[in-house]
Amino acid sequence: MDWQLASSERYWDPEPPAGRRKVWVRHVGHREAVFAPHRAPRPALQEARAVPSRMVTLDGSHGEGGGQILRTALSLSLLTGKPFRMTRVRANRDKPGLRPQHVSAVLAAAELGRADVRGAVVGSRELSFQPAAYEPRDLVIDIGTAGSTSLVLQTLHLPLALTAQGPVRVALSGGTFNPKAPAFPFLESTWRAHLAAVGLSVAVAMPEAGFYPKGGGRLDAWIEPGKPRALNGTARGPLRRIRGVAGVANLRPDIAQRMRDRALTRLAEYGLSAEIDLTEWRSPGQGAAISLVAEHDGTAPATFVGLGERGKPSEVVADEAVMELLAFEAVAQGAVDPHSADQILLPLALAPGQSVYTVSDVTEHLRTNAATIRAFLDREITIEEPHGERPGRVVVGG
Ligand code: ATP
Repeated sequence: MDWQLASSERYWDPEPPAGRRKVWVRHVGHREAVFAPHRAPRPALQEARAVPSRMVTLDGSHGEGGGQILRTALSLSLLTGKPFRMTRVRANRDKPGLRPQHVSAVLAAAELGRADVRGAVVGSRELSFQPAAYEPRDLVIDIGTAGSTSLVLQTLHLPLALTAQGPVRVALSGGTFNPKAPAFPFLESTWRAHLAAVGLSVAVAMPEAGFYPKGGGRLDAWIEPGKPRALNGTARGPLRRIRGVAGVANLRPDIAQRMRDRALTRLAEYGLSAEIDLTEWRSPGQGAAISLVAEHDGTAPATFVGLGERGKPSEVVADEAVMELLAFEAVAQGAVDPHSADQILLPLALAPGQSVYTVSDVTEHLRTNAATIRAFLDREITIEEPHGERPGRVVVGG
């Protein structure tokens, strides 16, 4: 069983193994020239660790059966000190088990939590994670493939934000435009806005874009310490504007123009207009993408991304982003887009008090994330299905 072929018992070791040297990056949170981690974990977390915690057991094939179960478990294990064991990791995916970006997330979380990890190798379908002393600090993470940097960042963001004493920097290398994962424009416009709405501040930059298969993109994040607060997100005001970016990396610029033209034409058919900029990204690889951001009064902007691939016409890429945007617009009272709906659940579960938000779609990712959170936290999460004109609704806390 690859479970026993654990690669990472070494993470018991307080010193990092050779080849995985810690890299300290100085920033405003460090005094003068001291390059050192942020110490002093929150007393509450230290207390939680003083009491040995029961192992949380998770079935990775539950519901959506993807990597989100693992990522949420890692975040919550670091925050609560509860160890977990997961079987059938990513059982519902074409390539089940851990992919390189999941291993990166596990190892980075293990480094932060000085965790004992078993099964953290590519392809592994079983994993156990037992955190010890937790130490928020700057991190440099190279996924080594085109795997999603944003998903790794999202795994680490809350453990860092909720416990660090000063700003923390996370520098990641890998993919910044991935199918079925938050692309950089989504992080920048939508994820950040939702976090800001609950009192969490994070800045992101993409010095280089990373596309499949080459990867090599760079995502930098500066995470401010903070505590999430409850959200009342049930109102979506009128559409103020649609903006977007059509871009290429090391491909002909007319590909970006074709994506933009197609998006404008399709939107016009529905009586919508947009301002779409053209850009060329620096990247070690090649790629094309278009992002469309719907800005409504009263709620965070919603970003929809179409991603190019070899053999896929630019027009189809644009259509994908437009169709997602139109589906969101069609649910007039859905304040939160379907992707953010599952991503904001964890900060809201960690916020005191009751949160309520309406969603344009109730997805399996949302239901599955709620189940994973309930396995760690004693929080009531109710997901109401849409009914007629009434959109889906999420209530966190009784
Ligand atoms: P994969 O197997 O595709 O690598 P995974 O199994 O690691 O993915 P999932 O469990 O599918 O991960 O979780 C994907 C996460 O990415 C979810 O939080 C989902 O909301 C988010 N996501 C998917 N597509 C988009 C998108 N277009 N924009 C923003 N977020 C997205």
